[in-house]
Amino acid sequence: MLKVANISFGYTSKEVIKNIGFKANKGDYVAIIGESGSGKSTLLEIIYGLLHIEKGTIYWNDQKLLGPNFRLIPGEDFMKYLPQDFDLMPYTTVEENIGKYISSQDKNKQKRIKELLKVVDMAEFSQTKVKNLSGGQKQRVAIAKVMAKEPEVLLLDEPFSHIDNFRKNKLRRDLFRYLKLKNILCIVATHDTTDALSFADKILVIRDGKLIANNTPEKLYTNPKSAYIASFFDEINKIPVSEIDANDTSKKSVLLYPNQMKLTEKDGIKATVVASYFKGNHYLIEAILNKTTLFFEHHSVLEINQQIFLKLAIDETK
Ligand code: ADP
Ligand code: MG
Repeated sequence: MLKVANISFGYTSKEVIKNIGFKANKGDYVAIIGESGSGKSTLLEIIYGLLHIEKGTIYWNDQKLLGPNFRLIPGEDFMKYLPQDFDLMPYTTVEENIGKYISSQDKNKQKRIKELLKVVDMAEFSQTKVKNLSGGQKQRVAIAKVMAKEPEVLLLDEPFSHIDNFRKNKLRRDLFRYLKLKNILCIVATHDTTDALSFADKILVIRDGKLIANNTPEKLYTNPKSAYIASFFDEINKIPVSEIDANDTSKKSVLLYPNQMKLTEKDGIKATVVASYFKGNHYLIEAILNKTTLFFEHHSVLEINQQIFLKLAIDETK
């Protein structure tokens, strides 16, 4: 088990990681989400042992990780870290880039390279020089490279950022299935909703260096504690309760996803249509309510400037 306890860190006197703690088990996939500059990359570098922390401790099983001040070569042996700006050897082949990390004494070396190239769907490029690959293909090779010497913990920083959507889904499915099979703990910093929602066992949400949520994707999605959290999953509406219930004089508001509001004939929240965006199986309608922008789903385009009424579409039987 990985146990991160009360760690804080600053590049200067200003802390950018503020008292973060969490636990993760072998074979788990933990997604770290948060806006740019919130501290995701810094947190991964601390865990890997590249940055020295004055406050807090990190344990892997019963072993306390000592950090860069106590190691000749920074970085723990049982972990692998793939930085945002990964580097490969451009003038050697894909196979050589991966093979470099597997001992030549290992008689399964070729088999292992093949297996890894299959996971990242790059088998047909094994003899291609890295400099001749596209950005997305290089990223696949980089992912295979960090898995070459099978780590116990894998830290990936925005690992699919260069890979187009068309191929991303298959790669994610194959990769996360493989990591589960091998019981490798994987911690991924990402701003891609699908990386987190569809695959993660647990999502950590970071804001301004603080861990503001740590829960399963289902729990975070259905009960987001703030608009910041919900906004990673979808457009989010923050509606004053007084708009829904005229008798409510409190200043409270509710968070609603676009599919939790729908058009009604009359007697609802009165808004004005601003735009309709085609989303494939529905339109996302942008509307305005007292200067607040709202989003809801509808089956057809609505006329701009049209006055509409909205009501909640929450399934109350649940
Ligand atoms: P994220 O990965 O979530 O975008 P980072 O961990 O890269 O965030 O950055 C967190 C904060 O630390 C930011 O305010 C960033 O400007 C600052 N920071 C990151 N790297 C350095 C560095 N090498 N020196 C000084 N400040 C840094
Ligand atoms: Mg980053």
